Amino acid sequence: MANRKHIIPLSRWRQLSQAVCLLLFLFLFSKTDYTGSDQLEYAVNIIFRFDPLIATAVMLAAKSVVLLLLPALILVALSLLLGRFFCGWACPLGTLIDLVHPLLKSHNPALDTRFPRLRYGILAFLLSAAFFGLPLVGYLDPFSLLVRGLTLAVEPAINHAATSFFTFTYQKAPALVNLVTEPLYDFLQATILPFSQKHYHLVYLSMAILATVFLLELNQRRFFCRNLCPLGALLGLLARFGLMNGAGGNDACGRCTTCRNICRMGAIDEQRHIDMAACTLCLECLDKCPRSTIIFNWKKPLTLQTGYSGSRRFFLGSLTAGALLPLFTNVRGLAKVTNQRLIRPPGALGEKEFLSLCVRCGECMKVCIGNTLQPVFLEAGIEGMFSPKVDSRLGYCEFNCTLCGQVCPTGAIRELQLTEKHTFKIGQAFFDKNRCLPYARGIPCMVCEEHCPTADKAIKFNETMATNDRGQQVQVKQPFVVAELCIGCGICEHKCPLPGAAAIRITNAGETRSPDKALPVASAGYG
Ligand code: SF4
Ligand code: SF4
Repeated sequence: MANRKHIIPLSRWRQLSQAVCLLLFLFLFSKTDYTGSDQLEYAVNIIFRFDPLIATAVMLAAKSVVLLLLPALILVALSLLLGRFFCGWACPLGTLIDLVHPLLKSHNPALDTRFPRLRYGILAFLLSAAFFGLPLVGYLDPFSLLVRGLTLAVEPAINHAATSFFTFTYQKAPALVNLVTEPLYDFLQATILPFSQKHYHLVYLSMAILATVFLLELNQRRFFCRNLCPLGALLGLLARFGLMNGAGGNDACGRCTTCRNICRMGAIDEQRHIDMAACTLCLECLDKCPRSTIIFNWKKPLTLQTGYSGSRRFFLGSLTAGALLPLFTNVRGLAKVTNQRLIRPPGALGEKEFLSLCVRCGECMKVCIGNTLQPVFLEAGIEGMFSPKVDSRLGYCEFNCTLCGQVCPTGAIRELQLTEKHTFKIGQAFFDKNRCLPYARGIPCMVCEEHCPTADKAIKFNETMATNDRGQQVQVKQPFVVAELCIGCGICEHKCPLPGAAAIRITNAGETRSPDKALPVASAGYG
């Protein structure tokens, strides 16, 4: 790209591309939801499969090639050809950061990147940790970070605000207003509002993490992209060894520093040389250079480009830290803590593989009809934070739903066929006889049995005499669970009418994915 003035400046085309990519991202995000069909219409998780950071980290963690993630090679090839264009032209998080920048403008523009080596250290640390058994990449990968924050915090808040507003106008506003608001609400429900109001654990933490990414703009433009983003670092490394080259800074420049002053990535040094590992090809410098000295082309310079300026020692130090941390934190040991309530979604792989593949994107939680999939905090160790678990008191696993397996981009949850789902055991229900009404107080109750969805009900009854609250002998049906029929869907726990803890609760005992948790069979006997 030679520097001549274009009728439509090149940076305008870049803005158009950013807008299209952001709208596509938001469209796919809004379609990650139940839409009346058990089969999703769109490949809503496709963006994760183009992410080379996720692909590399997941394959290092899994120690195998994950075919689902091979589309990432396309972005690798494009980055070798076009440099770090993705960050300037396509990344939805980068675009959102650009959008909020005018509101959060730094008073100190700080031309040079504050911590130019940090993102490489983070990248090396994450990849090394993934290889040695500590999968942390989902915490900082921009797609995971953004989708998770939108899912757990932003979308529920927007939906709540919209529903409250339209309920208010429906109840209080004059009929004339409702002529507008009711069709508008119908339209929003059919397009961008979620199928139902969701509630999630860790909402404040998710919101705080996402907000921090944007608030860092107060310190420096594109702070996250310049200093922290491991995907940006990986694409920058590819750009450094790729074909695209930007050149500026010749005798014609004189004392002009326009390009350096406007570069959002701090990619232009005092000599006006362009660091292709930092440059996101936003092309503002090309458009605004008053002396037309900036050129982007595919001629590889003979001299090594300025680029990763970090010392080898820092990079190796980060690799070593990533390798050692799993030993020090003993995370595998923590994950093995037998937390009986750590119930994974149906189709989840064995715990070790599951955690290696899960990138904490939150897609499964977003799509879950029953709102039962919730982010884990520390129940599965540091490595398990934000991975999904079933919370049966909050919701339940819908018997005829396989959506979580359809959206999981890495295969951490494999897609089940409905017939398989109907017998896939994620846990086992147990009665607490000190709380269950027919046992504890002689009060008839069969709510759990009524909701049990299995073809042959997994909850059955013994008819017997019990003492009620008044000390009278009454005939009641006391429920019990047939282990071979129970799949742990949790609807019994969810519907149990007792306040607080339910009288029937699910644990992960007997889950299909863990042969070591198989329940003893009746004929085996102990003692
Ligand atoms: S650096 Fe990261 S967050 Fe920023 S634009 Fe690139 S990929 Fe997106
Ligand atoms: S298990 Fe859920 S959170 Fe983890 S990668 Fe799959 S969809 Fe994302």
